[in-house]
Amino acid sequence: MLNSKDYKLFDLISIPFKIVPAQTIATIFYMLLDSLVPAYQTLVIAFFINTATDIFNNRADFSEIYMPIGLIMAYLIVTHLFPSIMQIIETAGRNKLNVILKKEIVLKRARLEYKHIENNETWELVHRVCEDPVGFFMNGFNNVLSGINLLIGTISLLIIVMSSTFITGIVIMLVSIPLFYIAMKTGKENYTIGLEAQKIKRKYTYLADILSNRDYAEERSLFGYSPAISERYDKLYEKSYKIEKKIQIKSFINLKSGSIVALLIGIVIVGLLLPSLNKGELSIGLFISLVTAIFSLVQRMSWQLSYTMQQHARVKEYLKDFSEFSKLSEKENADDVPADVDNFMFHSLEFKSVSFKYPGAERNVLDKCSFKLLNGKNYAFVGENGAGKTTIIKLLVGMYDEYEGDILINDKNLRDYSFAELKGLISVVYQNFSKYALTVKDNIRLGNILKHDEEKINRIISDMNLVGMIRELEFGVDTYIGKVKKNSKDISEGQWQRLAISRLLYSSSKINILDEPTAALDPLEESRLYEMFRDINLNRFTIYITHRLGAAKISDEILVVSEGHIAEQGSHEQLMQYKDGIYQNMFESQKSWYEAESKVHNV
Ligand code: ADP
Repeated sequence: MLNSKDYKLFDLISIPFKIVPAQTIATIFYMLLDSLVPAYQTLVIAFFINTATDIFNNRADFSEIYMPIGLIMAYLIVTHLFPSIMQIIETAGRNKLNVILKKEIVLKRARLEYKHIENNETWELVHRVCEDPVGFFMNGFNNVLSGINLLIGTISLLIIVMSSTFITGIVIMLVSIPLFYIAMKTGKENYTIGLEAQKIKRKYTYLADILSNRDYAEERSLFGYSPAISERYDKLYEKSYKIEKKIQIKSFINLKSGSIVALLIGIVIVGLLLPSLNKGELSIGLFISLVTAIFSLVQRMSWQLSYTMQQHARVKEYLKDFSEFSKLSEKENADDVPADVDNFMFHSLEFKSVSFKYPGAERNVLDKCSFKLLNGKNYAFVGENGAGKTTIIKLLVGMYDEYEGDILINDKNLRDYSFAELKGLISVVYQNFSKYALTVKDNIRLGNILKHDEEKINRIISDMNLVGMIRELEFGVDTYIGKVKKNSKDISEGQWQRLAISRLLYSSSKINILDEPTAALDPLEESRLYEMFRDINLNRFTIYITHRLGAAKISDEILVVSEGHIAEQGSHEQLMQYKDGIYQNMFESQKSWYEAESKVHNV
């Protein structure tokens, strides 16, 4: 249903029509009925007044009054009963629309190519679109209908006037044009100023989050930055408040001046109708009811039109964003579950002269990068921050495929593997690994959703030294962790890390990668965790990524990444032989981190 295309106002009606046809038809039907109410009201009141005057002047029988009274009663019933019924219908429609439309949007978001997630501009667009899509669609839908409603209401009244006195109808149309114009202009203006206020609001909401959210609590008290942030918050709040006040005052002035103009127009119209009444072109009943209807219509136009135009500008902006979002490229088969790779015999992974630059960037991040890794060994990629280590992994897992050169797994091109196969084959624990507010067990099980192996989970828990932590939890492995649920228990950063690594261990992947998930630990702790991981994971091909060499020493082979390619490769001992080599220099400068440890061991 969510196609890549330019979404237009018409889609605001056609999409709800596809999802909730009955409710959409009912709403449109009601809108049409409601738009004819002013004309109907005018005609039946005129009918009633004319009949009543005829009875009063003995030109008609009393029983003739029943008909206009009946029509007025019908009008009263419809205008009082229908809105409540419509509200019920609309709520049901909104709920269904919510479920279906939101699901489509969430799926689209999940299928987006990774480059859109890393690109700030597109990611902001995604945020804007996903914030409240259903609200926008409903709002847009109602706005289009209320515009049509206003138009039909006005035209039908004009037809009534014109059918009695054509010239007066034309004059009324001409005097109403400025009113339309003013309303449209102020509507757009208000929207533009409102955008500015929105931007500022977003900024101060973020500051408010820093001041109150518990994720910032430690640093808040450590650095004592609250007063400074608070001052900035106050300034922004004040600025946005001033803008909003300006909009409100402007709207108020527009409304009031609009009402005065409307009143004047009303008086002019009444003046214009008087000669027709005199000449007998208009009955007294029609004159009185027309005057009432015209006053209320012009009054309504003076505020509703401006509001409708303001909303219209908002909805149009949203549709532009929505169209752009719908056209963002998707990763093929992105939502496939990992393939079962139990029978896959991995033997080699090779990069052959791979060059890559990030979309929109000028410089190659990887530059003719070549290496070959074999099963049965552990490898470490080391190098300064920004050398390109993580980028190698991003290409390997298929996040980007606009690279030059070839990546081969078992001598078969990476591009010839399905995304599901790659997901099954490769597991990564990233530096910013995810913390799921689920149970301990589910945090591990997410590593392989195809299988449920209780025994394996227990083994991993024991290997990863998590038994002690779990013993302290009220419901053991079934305790919810994190900060989301009321009864859930938060655990330490190190414990989250162990859980993330457990997830990798639980997967059946053949290529396991630890991309500095331990960056938050000190160098010694990192080495210990990597050693523990190596001991548990002896038979699995593993790549460690680190800029700290203590952890690299445990690998069979080390690859030094520098300026986007492999500058040195070999065992620790071999690399230490290169006089003035990158590895040797790095090792010398980091040696002191590990010396304390060896002293402790030597005692
Ligand atoms: P490492 O893992 O060795 O620290 P990365 O592979 O993360 O290095 O980054 C290599 C280079 O690519 C850095 O200069 C970094 O700024 C740049 N880079 C990383 N991600 C992106 C991105 N999404 N868009 C543009 N440049 C990026």
